[in-house]
Amino acid sequence: MEVISILKNTFKLSTFRTNQLECIVATLDGKDVFYLAPTGGGKSLCFQLPALCVTGKTQGTTFVISPLISLITDQVAALRKKGIFAFPLTSAAEENEVRQAMRMMRSNVEEKPKLVYTTPERLQKSDSLKDVVDQLYEEKQLARFVIDEAHVIGSWGRDFRSSYAELKILRKNWPNVPIMALTGSANKDTSEDIKHNLAMRDPVCLAQSFNRPNLHYSVRKKPSLKKDLVQNIAGFIKTHHPDDTGIIYALSRAESEEMAQKLREEWGIEARHYHAGIDNEERKINQVDWMAGRCKVIIAFGMGIDKPDVRFVIHATLSKDMDGYYQETGRAGRDGRSSDCILYYTYSDAIKIEKMLRNPNSNDPTRDKPSDAEIERQVAKLSGVVAYSCNESDCRRVLILRHFDEEFKPEDCHNQCDNCHRPGTLIHHDFTKEAKQVIQLLKDMMAVNNSRGVTQVQLKDTWKGRKNKAVQQYKDLPLYSSGQTMGHPTVERIYSHLIAEGAISTYSVPSSSGYSNTYIQVSGVFSYWPCIR
Ligand code: ADP
Ligand code: ZN
Repeated sequence: MEVISILKNTFKLSTFRTNQLECIVATLDGKDVFYLAPTGGGKSLCFQLPALCVTGKTQGTTFVISPLISLITDQVAALRKKGIFAFPLTSAAEENEVRQAMRMMRSNVEEKPKLVYTTPERLQKSDSLKDVVDQLYEEKQLARFVIDEAHVIGSWGRDFRSSYAELKILRKNWPNVPIMALTGSANKDTSEDIKHNLAMRDPVCLAQSFNRPNLHYSVRKKPSLKKDLVQNIAGFIKTHHPDDTGIIYALSRAESEEMAQKLREEWGIEARHYHAGIDNEERKINQVDWMAGRCKVIIAFGMGIDKPDVRFVIHATLSKDMDGYYQETGRAGRDGRSSDCILYYTYSDAIKIEKMLRNPNSNDPTRDKPSDAEIERQVAKLSGVVAYSCNESDCRRVLILRHFDEEFKPEDCHNQCDNCHRPGTLIHHDFTKEAKQVIQLLKDMMAVNNSRGVTQVQLKDTWKGRKNKAVQQYKDLPLYSSGQTMGHPTVERIYSHLIAEGAISTYSVPSSSGYSNTYIQVSGVFSYWPCIR
């Protein structure tokens, strides 16, 4: 069978992984395919292999649409090493290469390139590219469209890009071409969105478990001083991964630069920063050095970079949502070997990120300004990550996989997460009473001061019975200082849990200074909270 010989001779692999062959057979048969597999699951083979097949119902060039230029560059380079001449049609590609690809697509059948990669933006904007696709279509030399990282199409995806929404033109302009959508990150709603937005016809749907058994998940309390955080991270790397490569995710560009510098200068760890803001040349150097193992740690902000032997992924701050967290931690251990994923959590980071979501940077031309409803959705997704981070009792895998509507038995974790592994006896404490107290207190405070709004700091201060001016007006309330004996982390945890559960929500009011003030309100019913530690 042709498929098997290409697998062995070109890709030098012996067997298919779960669903790979089913996916390849379906697309060669001209069907639409929706393929869901975790990062590292082997999605690329599912379209790279059929692109080389000469038997099957489809012929000609495979068009791959991918959102990230760095991913395109990596894949094209890897294919060329295997002797497959793929082309990148991106702004980062050499001009003569782009010209060559266009010429080959226009020329006779034998010369058509097997694989062409492009970004949704380029397909949307370039009329000459559309003309070439038209011509291939007329000649019946358009094998299939492949949409990689298809979760970006989900209407409210975290990386939503308007040009991805425009991909409906694929089916509209070139109706007979099979479509394959691949994603490493989609729950049921997003999956339905993708199929709908691409106008897929009765797609063959293949889904693989999202569990990544070789990843060890844990959450640590983030120290409030930057110096302590860097020390903590450096200590972890030096103890557990002195010679390994890893990725650190930071809150902002500035923070990623600063952290890379501190790790280099104060701890002798060869770390570099990598984000969309640094110039192309520097980014290339850092990426090449990292891929080659010359620099060990890369501090990333909003970038996708892939290397099979990443041994640790550290989140120096929260991800914006669970999809993002899964995707980012998924960059560890793609080669199947055991790897660490650590998240440093503090509630004040959640507040910072929420502020950024509410005041999106209008200077970023690649993104449309989100609507208020979309901002609310993003804030709600953020609280999903907060809930994950403050959970200190449930298996991390159960929590992560639940997000993808996948059920997982905690015993199958085999102690590969901090919550399953926690040594010593567990002290369980039921915080239902305290949680109800906080809600009642907030209700009482709102009754006293409904017109001016209550902030979360005021709520915590009143509960703790602090004496500052802002909370003096609440000192006669019966629950004032009822949380006096409670430790600071417990207060934070109870508060975060109530926010994550939707029992308390935030709202913003524009102020005269131009910034908006954020207040809190009681918004849901809270009945029972089994236990946290
Ligand atoms: P994804 O796109 O799903 O994140 P990739 O396609 O990059 O994953 O594949 C991840 C790794 O798995 C690659 O190193 C790839 O060579 C390897 N791989 C893919 N399919 C197979 C297979 N059938 N057998 C062995 N290794 C495979
Ligand atoms: Zn576990």
